[in-house]
Amino acid sequence: MTRRKLAAGNWKMNGVGASLSEVQDLAARHPNPLCDLLICPPATLLSRMAAVAGPIAMGGQDCHAAVSGAHTGDISAAMLCDGGASYVIVGHSERRTDHGETDAVIRAKAQAAQAAGLVAVICLGETEAQRRSGQALVVVGAQLAGSVPDGATSANTVIAYEPVWAIGTGLVPSEAEITEVHAHLRAELSARFGAIAADGMRLLYGGSVKPGNAATIFALSGVDGVLAGGASLKADDFSAIIAALEASA
Ligand code: PEP
Repeated sequence: MTRRKLAAGNWKMNGVGASLSEVQDLAARHPNPLCDLLICPPATLLSRMAAVAGPIAMGGQDCHAAVSGAHTGDISAAMLCDGGASYVIVGHSERRTDHGETDAVIRAKAQAAQAAGLVAVICLGETEAQRRSGQALVVVGAQLAGSVPDGATSANTVIAYEPVWAIGTGLVPSEAEITEVHAHLRAELSARFGAIAADGMRLLYGGSVKPGNAATIFALSGVDGVLAGGASLKADDFSAIIAALEASA
C-alpha cells in the first residue's frame, strides 16, 4: 500500500504571534504539497495560525484524557478541535520525562483524541542507555503495545519513532537502526491489528532531522515522514525538509 507521507513540525514551547510569518511563508512556498503538512504550535497560536496555514494542518502538542473538568493548565482534545486542530501529539518524550507520563496515560490521551475526531500522533523511542544495552526493540515494542489504543486505525493514528537520545542533540541513528525499528513497529502493528488494517498506518521518524540529512532518512524503507522539532521553526529549514520528503514520495 502507498501511504501518503507526512511532514510534521513540533514547535514545543516556542512561538508567539510574530512567528506565524514563518507559517505564512511556508504555506506560500508549498501551495499544493505532494505530502501532508502539519505544524503543532503552542495552543495559544492555533486559532491565529488558521488564518495563514493554507494547506498546512494544525495540531496540539498534548491533550488531557478527560473531556473537561477540574484540570488546571491542561487542554482537552475538544478544545484543540475548537481551535482548528486536526492532529495532536501524545507521548512525546518530553511529556514522558517532564510529566511522568506512562504508556497507560498516553493511551488514554490518544483514545480521547481519537474520540474527539483528532489524529493522534503517538510518540515512542528508547533512551541512550536502552539502545546501548540492546533493548531498543523491546522498549519500543512495549511502548507501542501500551500506548496505542485498540481503536487505532490508519485514519486516526500516526506513530512517530523518536529515539530520546536523538531529540535536539544532532545525533541520528544509523540507517540500519532506523530501518530495523520501523520494520519491527510495522510487524507489531500487523500482528495486533491485522496486516491490512496496519498497512495504512504511517510511521514517522523524528530526532535531529535537518535539511542536510532528510533525503537520506526519507529514502529508508518504512519511513513515511518526519516529526521535526527545531527544524520546523524556520520556513527555510522546514521547506527544505518538505521538498526532500516530496522527492521521496
Ligand atoms: C521532537 O521534539 O519531536 C524532535 C524530533 O526534535 P528535534 O527535531 O529538534 O530533534
